Amino acid sequence: MERELPLSKPDITQAEIDAVVDVMKSGRLSIGPRQDRFEEVVAERAGQRHGVAVSSGTAGLHLVLAALGVGPGDEVITTPFSFVASANCILYVGATPVFVDIDPVSLNMDPAGLEGAITSKTKAIVAVEVFGNPQHMDRIAQIAGAHEVPLIEDACEGLGGVYRGRPIGSFGRAAVFGFYPNKQITTGEGGMIVTDDDRLAELCRSMRNQGRGSGAMEAGLDAGSWLSHERLGYNYRLSEIAAAIGIVQMERLDELLEARRRVALMYFDRLMDCPDVILPNVSDDAEMSWFVFVVRLSAEFGAAARNRVVDGMKRHEVGVSNYFPPIHLQPFYRERFGYQQGDMPMCEAAAQRTVALPFFGGMDATQMELSCLTLKLMIDREKLLLDRAPSGDGPGVERN
Ligand SMILES: *Cc1c(COP(=O)(O)O)cnc(C)c1O
Repeated sequence: MERELPLSKPDITQAEIDAVVDVMKSGRLSIGPRQDRFEEVVAERAGQRHGVAVSSGTAGLHLVLAALGVGPGDEVITTPFSFVASANCILYVGATPVFVDIDPVSLNMDPAGLEGAITSKTKAIVAVEVFGNPQHMDRIAQIAGAHEVPLIEDACEGLGGVYRGRPIGSFGRAAVFGFYPNKQITTGEGGMIVTDDDRLAELCRSMRNQGRGSGAMEAGLDAGSWLSHERLGYNYRLSEIAAAIGIVQMERLDELLEARRRVALMYFDRLMDCPDVILPNVSDDAEMSWFVFVVRLSAEFGAAARNRVVDGMKRHEVGVSNYFPPIHLQPFYRERFGYQQGDMPMCEAAAQRTVALPFFGGMDATQMELSCLTLKLMIDREKLLLDRAPSGDGPGVERN
C-alpha cells in the first residue's frame, strides 16, 4: 500500500498506454479519427446526437455560453455550491452570474428557488450534478423549458449517472463533461460538449478551432478554408493523444463506475453507525455517478472544527479536502459583486462542514479502514474539546 492515501487517483491500464503509443506512431497528433470516435461514444452515452471534444470542461462551458450568444447585460443562473468554473464561464462572456441557493439534502440547486430568480435578462441556466448526484435535474429542465431559457448541464462531475431513466447530459440544450485526472474518466486534461442541437454543435466545433468554417475541419490542411475565420474562435481543441486515452476510458466506463460504487458502499457500511457524520443523500430514483465521497460533520460542529478535522487527517497522510467553499464567498467574487456571508445560507451551512474523503476505484479494505479510523479519531478529538468549552475561554474552540 502506498504510504500516503490520496484524495483521488486516475485508473490507467496498459490499454490506455498502448493507445497513446499508437497515436504517437501514427503521426497524426491532432484533429483526427480519435477525436471523432471519442465524440461519438461520449455523445451516445449521454443520449445526445453530437459530441464536441474540447481541451477542458471549463473551455466547454465557455464555448456553449458563447455559442448561445450570451453576453454583457445578460444574467445566467447557477449554483454557489460547485467548482468555480461553473460561475467563471459566465464571467468569460461578460454576463452576470445569479446564484440560487441549494437544497440542503441533495446539495444541488434548489428548484424551488429557481423560478423566482428568472428575469427578462436571464439568458441561460447552468445547473450542476454536484458530486455526481443528478437529483432535481428533471424539475430544473421543466422550469427552464417553461420560461424558454436554455439549460446547460455542467455535468463535469456526472458522467454515466442516470436520473429517472435519463442519462446525465441529456436534460439540457447542451451538457459539458470534464476529464481532469480526478474525474470518473480522464484524458489528462479535456472536456466534451454534448447536444442534440445541430447548429449549436456546429458553432461549438467552429469556435473551438479559431472560428474556422466547418469545411476547414474536413479539408484538414487545405490552406484556403484553414485560414478563413468566420467568427471569433479559440484554440480549445483536444489532441489525438488525449482522445485516444478517452476512448479506452469510455470502453471501461461501466467497470470504472462500478469500482467507484463499490468503494462508496464500503464507506456507507463503515460510517453508517457514526452519528457525527452525515452521509451523502442518494434518492431512490437516482443512479449516482460517484465522483467524490463527501460527508458532512453533524450540526454541532462548525467551520473551525471541520478545518481542524481536515488538517488533522492531512497530517496523518490521508488525502482530504473541503469541497466546495461557496463560489460567492471566493475573494474574487466578494470583491467584484459584494457578496457576504449569509447571502446563500443553505450553501454556507453545508459547505462549512464538508469533508471529501479519499475516493478512487482501486481503494482496498486497509485504505478504507485508514480513512474512516482517522476521520473518527479527529472527530472524537473535536468532541472532547466541544464538551469542555462552555464559557468561551477554553482552548480556543470556536463553535462556528
Ligand atoms: C471539473 C469540473 C469542471 C471542469 O474542470 P476542468 O478542469 O476545466 O476540466 C467544471 N465544473 C465542475 C463542477 C467540475 O467539477
